[in-house]
Amino acid sequence: MSGIRSVAVVGAGMAGLATAWHLQERGAQVTVFDRGEPGAGSSWGNAGWLTPAIATPLPEPAVLRYGVRALASPSSPVYVPPTADPRLARFVAGFVRHSTTGRWQRAMTALLPLNERALEAFERLEAGGVAASTAPADPFIAGYSDVRNVKVLLDEFADIAEAGGTVDHELISGQEARRLEPTVSEGVEAAILIRGQRYLHPIEFVAAVAESVRGRGGDIVTGTSVRSVDDIGAAGVRLRTGDTAAGPFDAVVIANGAWLNDLVRPFGVRHVVQAGRGYSFSVPAQSVPRSPLYFPEVRVACTPLGNRLRVAGMMEFRRPDEPIDPRRIQAIVDSARELLHGVDLEDRRDEWVGSRPCTADGLPLVGRTTSPRVFVAGGHGMWGITLGPLTGELLAEQIVTGEVPDALTPLDPLRRLDWAPSRLRRRSASR
Ligand SMILES: Cc1cc2nc3c(=O)[nH]c(=O)nc-3n(C[C@H](O)[C@H](O)[C@H](O)COP(=O)(O)OP(=O)(O)OC[C@H]3O[C@@H](n4cnc5c(N)ncnc54)[C@H](O)[C@@H]3O)c2cc1C
Repeated sequence: MSGIRSVAVVGAGMAGLATAWHLQERGAQVTVFDRGEPGAGSSWGNAGWLTPAIATPLPEPAVLRYGVRALASPSSPVYVPPTADPRLARFVAGFVRHSTTGRWQRAMTALLPLNERALEAFERLEAGGVAASTAPADPFIAGYSDVRNVKVLLDEFADIAEAGGTVDHELISGQEARRLEPTVSEGVEAAILIRGQRYLHPIEFVAAVAESVRGRGGDIVTGTSVRSVDDIGAAGVRLRTGDTAAGPFDAVVIANGAWLNDLVRPFGVRHVVQAGRGYSFSVPAQSVPRSPLYFPEVRVACTPLGNRLRVAGMMEFRRPDEPIDPRRIQAIVDSARELLHGVDLEDRRDEWVGSRPCTADGLPLVGRTTSPRVFVAGGHGMWGITLGPLTGELLAEQIVTGEVPDALTPLDPLRRLDWAPSRLRRRSASR
């Protein structure tokens, strides 16, 4: 090991905990700090899809069209409020710049080597003692009220294929979808089946990773907000938590989700992490679906969690700590009503808002900062549950060996390393 023995991790979401777990695998002593509990952030109420086949960069020409329309309609699935917030303005400007076909292709090429290996990373956690499991999404169904709209997703699959990926899928009728899944309503005219994907119960899984980190001798310090990180040179790093300091540690991993900017800026990370707020709630269903359902026209995601169905949606670019906006919950209810059968959308529990940590170029920020002792794990946007375990594993490797794994090169938090898409593609194909 490269002299790094004690590591502090700020943030006990999927990204931070997976990194901590893999640091332990490599012999490090970890202390994880969270201002709340493990999974208190976006890792709590998300849809729990492990769908690497469709884990694509968020800035893309179609989303931009939604965004522009959203300015006139607060009930649209993507909402950009009129704002004087300079950080949000910077994010939106960058997001618009990256919403071109060329930039999307480049970012997609960077995600593919991660997507290809994402599901294996869950197997390693389970084999290593994390007492939670993932389930097959067999099949994953995307339902449409208008058959003409399937073209948008099919075009995206073609774009994924052009970047070197594959999505095992099949177009079926609404009737066939209902035969497979009675919760799909008569309002669904056509559906796309996607094979080979999985899902999990988000908070159960994250809690199990936290338990495993503790069981292997790691410390998880809850209810403790980290205010700043001090690099004190060869002596390591200290964390300021209120009036006291913790450490020194040999290194720190900053993994505090949508709240990342303030802690990382002193270490050269200028890339804005913007909260893309999403909402969810759970409802009872006459027959809870076996697998997740997706309604792309309204961007509503449904996932079976125990004996209830979690319904999630919305992308609202606002500050992460703003209160829940009941109009957004109502907008999800209104758009899901015609698409779901046998579901009581009025008997809602666990109404929740959480912040996807979004970046303007659609790529996570994972790697070293300007300090050799300060690392970042975050910015996974819509895909932190799917990709958090693998990127955590690769980051632990980087921290301990000092070598940057190929797949992390494009995720450099300073975006300083140039990388050629063709080189990444070749390497991933030969693996
Ligand atoms: C509605 C919705 C649906 C989603 N569905 C999916 C899905 O199906 N599949 C998928 O892959 N992804 C999904 N996502 C995205 C996914 O939830 C996120 O990408 C992921 O949870 C991010 O994990 P994280 O660990 O980076 O951040 P978080 O889970 O937000 O964790 C950050 C942690 O840092 C803590 N923290 C913050 N500031 C401090 C501080 N100063 N000091 C100490 N602790 C601090 C917080 O309390 C929190 O626990 C969804 C998100 C939403 C909102």
